[in-house]
Amino acid sequence: MVHRTRDRFSSISPAEFFYRNRQMAGFGNPSQALFSTVRELVENSLDACDEIPIPPKIDVTISRVDVGVYRVTVADNGVGIPSANVPEAFGRVLYGSKYDARQRRGTFGLGVTMAVLYGQMTTNRPVQVHTQDNSSGGHRFRIFIDVERNRPVVDETSVSDRPVHGTTVSIELKANLRRSKERIIEYITLSSVGSPHAQFRLKIENDPPRIVGPWTKTLPTPSAPALPHPRAADVELLKRLVGQNGHLSLKEFLISSFQQVGTRMASRVLRFGNLDPKRTAQSLSRDEIVHLSNTLRNFEGFARPDSSSLSPIGKEPFLNALRSLFSPRQHVYAIRAPSEWSGNPFIIEGALVVLDDLDKTDTPELVRLANRVPLLYDAGSDSFVNLVKQISWSRYGLTDLGTPVLILHLCSTRIPYRAAGKQAIAQVPEIEAEALALLRELGRKMGRHTRKFRQTSKESRR
Ligand code: ADP
Ligand code: MG
Repeated sequence: MVHRTRDRFSSISPAEFFYRNRQMAGFGNPSQALFSTVRELVENSLDACDEIPIPPKIDVTISRVDVGVYRVTVADNGVGIPSANVPEAFGRVLYGSKYDARQRRGTFGLGVTMAVLYGQMTTNRPVQVHTQDNSSGGHRFRIFIDVERNRPVVDETSVSDRPVHGTTVSIELKANLRRSKERIIEYITLSSVGSPHAQFRLKIENDPPRIVGPWTKTLPTPSAPALPHPRAADVELLKRLVGQNGHLSLKEFLISSFQQVGTRMASRVLRFGNLDPKRTAQSLSRDEIVHLSNTLRNFEGFARPDSSSLSPIGKEPFLNALRSLFSPRQHVYAIRAPSEWSGNPFIIEGALVVLDDLDKTDTPELVRLANRVPLLYDAGSDSFVNLVKQISWSRYGLTDLGTPVLILHLCSTRIPYRAAGKQAIAQVPEIEAEALALLRELGRKMGRHTRKFRQTSKESRR
């Protein structure tokens, strides 16, 4: 008999995991990696400006350093990063400042570290960061990632003031500019629809600089962090909350841990779950925690989640951006009331425009935005793409007018992305229902416009 020796067990760090599975995060090849690097840096810069808030000025430079090697530099006028946090923010995968429940572009502290990792892996060069926040002077850093340990290795650091707060990040990587250039230009253009208050300056190699935006002076209302909605209370979340507030009576525990739960609501829920309101939260047994979680999820009386944690673009800024960029022949806008999926608030807004093109079709082309970020890849698996195909657009009389284009924006404290690359939205029934209603509303509004348009052109022909 042949005995195989037993495989040895071990574990890998998050950095190692994403190093091995980089295509999952959008860093599968040199053209995608260049696009994703620009995307992640721009996302962070916009978040850093909205944090203040201040009209964002984002400067993107892509220059060749060698055959097939490019340097991407993105500079912003955002909050800056406290110098003590810089090494980990850029040198540790899954480290970030955006884990609270509010709408932001960044999600789980992966984006920029993936770009740093890819740069290091293909060029053996560190990321360079120059940042200054409001409370101290500026600092420069050169940072590598210790992939096996998921830890930053600071190669060099020095004190160096900037004129004002902000951050400049520079990454060198193996890249294919020819194949990603159009996508990058499209990304910046559409980012100015998602963030019409921002100004972008894009400088690619020896091309003249492209300046895009701003299309509005109004800054978005900053999204405020919110307590979790009780419908989001799975067992894991409940255990954590009990860890923080376990000394409270169940009634007080519900009131102070969740939004939309006041004194009367707490009593009603506990009665519904047959739980004694005077017991402390930490006295719940394991099974009782499961029971409380089920109770919160099945109770139907909760109000919808608070939408102050969201920041939709809004009608005027949205349409201003579209008018400035595309000079559409017709345009309509609609927004749905806040709703929720698994306790996460979301809002869908969108516009339908008709462009003066020769290419006359019925079914509109779709542009997707999620938390103000354009999604340009993986359209085939995106829930919204499939919904647009379900509508019979001909009934709204779009034919013969020009090329219809739909721009949909989903904002939520949690976007249900299909993968870590954050390019496609997964199918969630609550979101799909709202999206379909929005599509129909846009169709009807455009239908009214087009009927008027046909009538006037008939009359003028007479
Ligand atoms: P995420 O954006 O998902 O939080 P990242 O890996 O992209 O994750 O960034 C990690 C953290 O670094 C951010 O959470 C933020 O705190 C900080 N950061 C990165 N870039 C900037 C920037 N330009 N300005 C301010 N903070 C930044
Ligand atoms: Mg980010």
